[in-house]
Amino acid sequence: MTKQLKSNHIYDIIKSNPDLQTVDVGWANFKIVFKKGLKSGSQNCWGTCDFDTYEIHLEEKIEDAPARETLFHEICHGFLELCGMGGEGEGEEEEYVYASNERVTITVSRAIMMFARLNPELAKELLNLKGDDL
Ligand SMILES: [Zn+2]
Repeated sequence: MTKQLKSNHIYDIIKSNPDLQTVDVGWANFKIVFKKGLKSGSQNCWGTCDFDTYEIHLEEKIEDAPARETLFHEICHGFLELCGMGGEGEGEEEEYVYASNERVTITVSRAIMMFARLNPELAKELLNLKGDDL
């Protein structure tokens, strides 16, 4: 049982429920960690997925809608890593691989979110989800 929250911000919902603070991507469980002033290299960013520490880092100071997309995007990095498209590139093609993995991740995460938002009843049945909200 979770306590009633005043905020519907996804980060507040996750922080209040320990069961939501770990993401199973099949080959590992990733811990969700909130940060202030998150950076990827020297650049500010909203989320990162660390395949070495099994952590998803999220910038705390963003609005609810981009926060939801950011978390789902990072989760998709974890799933896509299974087929070698998680996000990191190596060797000569490093930048190209990184950029194309990022594009695939954005596309896949937005497509799944869009499908579920536009077709909530079908998504519930198709994905075998329990509960009343998606
Ligand atoms: Zn990304």
